Amino acid sequence: MSELVSLKDLRPADLELWVQEAGQPAFRARQLLRWLYSQNSEDFQTMSDLSKDFRAWLAQNARLPCVVREQVLTDEDGTRKFLLRLHDGERIESVLIDEGRRRTLCVSSQVGCALGCHFCLTGQAGFKRNLTAGEIVDQVCVARRELGSEERLTNLVFMGMGEPLANLKEVTKALEIITSDRGLNFSTRRVTLSTVGLVPEMLQLIRLIPIKLAVSLHAADNETRSRLMPINRRYPLEELLAACRRLELPSRHRTTFEYLLLAGVNDSPEEARKLAKILRGLRAKINLIPFNEYPGAPFRRSSSTRVAEFQKILQDNHFTATTRQSRGAGIMAACGQLTHSH
Ligand code: SAH
Ligand code: SF4
Repeated sequence: MSELVSLKDLRPADLELWVQEAGQPAFRARQLLRWLYSQNSEDFQTMSDLSKDFRAWLAQNARLPCVVREQVLTDEDGTRKFLLRLHDGERIESVLIDEGRRRTLCVSSQVGCALGCHFCLTGQAGFKRNLTAGEIVDQVCVARRELGSEERLTNLVFMGMGEPLANLKEVTKALEIITSDRGLNFSTRRVTLSTVGLVPEMLQLIRLIPIKLAVSLHAADNETRSRLMPINRRYPLEELLAACRRLELPSRHRTTFEYLLLAGVNDSPEEARKLAKILRGLRAKINLIPFNEYPGAPFRRSSSTRVAEFQKILQDNHFTATTRQSRGAGIMAACGQLTHSH
């Protein structure tokens, strides 16, 4: 198996090169790319406009699927969680959220996560390995197949398992395939990457591909943040926010700041005012995330009055502040509830 070339791990330009090196004319690569990403085909035999010989050659030299759909769980609210198996037997999850007008896929970027945020179940399960670009791209292909031709996948968020910027190389390659018009053809405006804020990687990625960023802040002072997220010792708030101010955002883009509300830890009115103060002047919107509890979780969710009060203070300070509706909690598919150890 290992000598087969994994086509979804190739950037469109590299796939074209590979096809040319196989002695095929350039238009063959364009046809092949269409089968991969427009037709979403998984089988070379269905690629009817390719010659029989070329199809046979592809079958001997290349492979298509990078993930295998093992199971789909559907929540009462329509959220679907895909359990996917990788070539080496590892498992990941992606979550399809149907919001009527919008259908958003939440993709994973690593098996587990090494950053160990204290509130996060993925983090507690530890780190196994990075995903390859193909394993990221194929999560989108699986979701599209599930939706069929009637319903379109409109948005992508890198908010599943793992810290995407800790896997910068493969995530960048995946984003190139996802946003290329010869690939999955997503507009950069419809792709959001959530990060704890690895500063150099963040600046590097946005310079290359101007997708939207969501930064997991979760606290308005270093002491609280370091207690929740060990990464804050490496990139403290001042440095992170200075980098956010330096980001060259395309016009109309704003950076989203995610703020997880944990009862009695970071959800007081005083903290809301502190948050408004440190974000002042930034092109920012704030997304409040009520904590999703799980068995053995070391924190509690803030009450809805507390959340509303927090949100109101931010709005009074002229910030766009929304509260994330938890989706998929019935099937453990909500933020922070994804794990590879089933
Ligand atoms: N590693 C990235 C992206 C994946 S997590 C990041 O941390 O940003 C996506 C979001 O879910 C992050 O904001 C994360 O802090 C949040 N999250 C983690 N555990 C959660 C939980 N139990 N309840 C609610 N949100 C959680
Ligand atoms: Fe990793 Fe994000 Fe979970 Fe932190 S919140 S442990 S960075 S997945």
